[in-house]
Amino acid sequence: MPERVAAAVRGLASPVCAYVYDPAVLAARVAALRAALPGVTVCYAVKANGHPAIVAAAAAACDGLEVASGGELALAEAADARRIVFGGPAKTDAELAHALRLGATVNVESPHELRRLSLLADRAGTTATITLRVNRAGAALPGTHAMTGAPTPFGVDEAQLPEVVALARSLPGLDLAGWHLHAVSNNLDAAAHSAFLAEALRWSAATSKELGVPLRTVNAGGGFGVDYTGGAAFPLDELRVAVPEGVELVVEPGRWLAADTGWYAAEVLDLKHTHGRWFAVLRGGTHHFRLPAAWGYSHPFTVLPVERWDYPWARPEVGGVAVDAAGELCTPRDVLTRGQEVDRLRAGDVLLFARTGAYGWDISHHGFLRHPQPDFVVLDRAE
Ligand SMILES: *Cc1c(COP(=O)(O)O)cnc(C)c1O
Repeated sequence: MPERVAAAVRGLASPVCAYVYDPAVLAARVAALRAALPGVTVCYAVKANGHPAIVAAAAAACDGLEVASGGELALAEAADARRIVFGGPAKTDAELAHALRLGATVNVESPHELRRLSLLADRAGTTATITLRVNRAGAALPGTHAMTGAPTPFGVDEAQLPEVVALARSLPGLDLAGWHLHAVSNNLDAAAHSAFLAEALRWSAATSKELGVPLRTVNAGGGFGVDYTGGAAFPLDELRVAVPEGVELVVEPGRWLAADTGWYAAEVLDLKHTHGRWFAVLRGGTHHFRLPAAWGYSHPFTVLPVERWDYPWARPEVGGVAVDAAGELCTPRDVLTRGQEVDRLRAGDVLLFARTGAYGWDISHHGFLRHPQPDFVVLDRAE
């Protein structure tokens, strides 16, 4: 646990419930990725963490931002993103028109969307730069959330590509720059990811040639993994890719750039023993950090000891036992961690969950039970 994070948490009023974000971590991640993949365009996938401080750091450090909704488009605009890539299978006309005004590259996901974008661009007297999102026949990677090579609502089936490309070329207001091939999330295998990037480039060149489309852009999406339970790092130095002359390779990671920018802190409100198990009941829970419940794993925590105790009776305390970290919701599924050994844990201590900066707050069901929201603390760069 970095001391500046611990210090920020110690400064909070009890009962502590907060996300602490460190945007400098994101900037360092972008630098490391650029060093590993020289010349590759890096866009941050805003959906991983749309907190304005994180989006601002990403807009400053990356070549651009990848957005997938009107709300994210507005965030990217507010952050002065140098470049915007707009994807997602359910774009409205208003969102497409907004993207056109911002000069975004649109990842088009269907023939109907292609026609709507063409109409809007033509009416506005502009040209939309587009890539076609392709659901390839067999480009699966290890990891969770496979999105291609299977029936999904994302992109155009590879088999329909000739017709869709012909349509794109027949319509006004469209400039087809290449392909968007985002395929997976949370892949931890660098060799497999290198192979995926090489295959994306090979497939793109072959397909562009076959369909007579000059190839400028290959967007390989995100998917760099984070090991939540084991602490392994994605082996960045094993990533290799040779980008052909005249082609821009775009990657758009979210999880890997943002995960380590966040810590979730929750005070232990109660400690209890029922039917043979110890429970630390938290001010907080899965309505703030849903990922462990959604994925079915135990998210590790560290104990931040808090000396203050305001009650005139002995403090509930355990030592050398396994504890479940349960939340404040009235459901047995509100558990962040099961069976983690603690040396010492007392009511009033704070549990700190690291690696919660990506798909943490942003994917959680905040409204359930109407508890107050956590504090959001953004660490200063100079600290
Ligand atoms: C979610 C998403 C990403 C980011 O994926 P990560 O697994 O967070 O790296 C990138 N591109 C698209 C199109 C996405 O939907």
